[in-house]
Amino acid sequence: MSSGFLALSYLIGSVSFIMGLKMLSHPETARKGNLYAGMGMTLAIFATIFLYKDSDGNPLGNYLWIFGGLAIGTVLGNYAAKKVEMTAMPQMVSLFNGMGGACAAIISVVEFNHILHLGKDFTEDPAMTLVILAGLVIGTISFTGSMIAFGKLNGNLQDRVIPLQQVINIGLMLFILILAVMLTFGLGTIPPQTLMYLLLALSVLYGVLFVMPIGGADMPVVISLLNSFTGIAAAFGGFLYDNSVMLTGGILVGSAGTVLTVLMCKAMNRSLLNVIVGSFGGNAAGSGQVASGGNYKEVSLTDAAVLMMYSKKVIIVPGYGLAVAQAQHICHELEKVLDHNGVEVKYAIHPVAGRMPGHMNVLLAEADVSYDKLIDMEEINPEFAQTDVVLVLGANDVVNPAAKSDPSSPIYGMPILDVEDASHVIVNKRSMKPGYAGIENDLFFRPKTSMLFGDAKDALTKLVAEIKSLA
Ligand code: NDP
Repeated sequence: MSSGFLALSYLIGSVSFIMGLKMLSHPETARKGNLYAGMGMTLAIFATIFLYKDSDGNPLGNYLWIFGGLAIGTVLGNYAAKKVEMTAMPQMVSLFNGMGGACAAIISVVEFNHILHLGKDFTEDPAMTLVILAGLVIGTISFTGSMIAFGKLNGNLQDRVIPLQQVINIGLMLFILILAVMLTFGLGTIPPQTLMYLLLALSVLYGVLFVMPIGGADMPVVISLLNSFTGIAAAFGGFLYDNSVMLTGGILVGSAGTVLTVLMCKAMNRSLLNVIVGSFGGNAAGSGQVASGGNYKEVSLTDAAVLMMYSKKVIIVPGYGLAVAQAQHICHELEKVLDHNGVEVKYAIHPVAGRMPGHMNVLLAEADVSYDKLIDMEEINPEFAQTDVVLVLGANDVVNPAAKSDPSSPIYGMPILDVEDASHVIVNKRSMKPGYAGIENDLFFRPKTSMLFGDAKDALTKLVAEIKSLA
């Protein structure tokens, strides 16, 4: 009887994951989608706790441990999610993703030791052994890789290119494969438990070495790749326990992460191999590097206000600086003031603007900017030519023309927003320092461009006041 309810709960849980994922694909339904998937997960967890019975008909037990863990996780997760700044979101995603990988790896260690404890031979069921080892290796790589990604995005770790990096990584991966084969087929004389812990140690090392040299500007791709690793590792856990909801959840996370990885590589016009092997960009944001590309001109707040006020069409290009300054609300205010004075205003959204996929959409949605004003890159690019003023707010790499014209640039090939096609470009940032990729931006020195220096929130507040005084 309870097994029927358990299966039903898992089915409902799986359906809610799929519906949740579908809803997450649009900002308007994303919040609800998150809630649906969360409810499905809650149902799956509590159904497992109360309805699961082992082959001898015994319930789970260990309630103190289970609820103790749940209570700690709930308090910490809730606190972290509420406290986190929008700009620190990628770090948090990375941290949480790492926890998922660690869980999958721990499941494998526990199950491995359980089989040993039962005195079974690992060669008896090679498929099961491989499932355990795959969960162990992939989950561990995801955990350590995510922790390194967290450290880099948080500014605690710098990119490090180790000599012969790729050779070491390939050698390590081969070593991991050889050990896994030895364990699965009982080759050699090393005891299974020693082999398993050796595999664990090598996977820890591989995760570190895999992410360590990857350039800062490629972190979104790496995070999404690690996310797919966690999903795959969890799916192996689902196989292991013959648990359909864990399998479905793992497959969904694994495939969504893979699709996102591919899409982001496309958005940067790079292959996944190139992202992993070639280190691009770095932690150059705020590194103090000052551009040396020539002369640039500044625009006063009054001139900027007049220019925008008497325009027919203005396109705002939001970037990471907008998020740092928390200027989304005043940005919406600017849009409303211009709109009120008959100026058509749109936002140009680059797929990797900010520090995580969808960063700008989430940020602007928080300020109640209407979704139909957020226009994706491919759609908005042809519109720049009919635009009077483009206001670039704390964006840099995503409007860097070197991506199109300079084959030696690390961002060469990455599609960019063609802001230069507009009649005027006003760039708001605090200085001439480079963006995340750590490279100069020739756009700032071009004849149509004027710089409006200052913190985005501060500059926009003054700009809105100027425009209001003109109206
Ligand atoms: P960039 O990092 O290229 O540029 C941001 C600019 O904002 C900086 O040049 C900085 O200049 C300016 N800035 C910082 N603080 C403020 C402030 N308070 N007020 C005004 N300006 C400010 O951002 P983009 O959005 O253009 O590009 C994103 C980059 O990040 C890409 O290289 C992308 O690959 C990478 N990335 C993207 C992720 C994603 O998933 N979206 C994740 C991780 C990296 P100054 O210091 O002079 O003010």
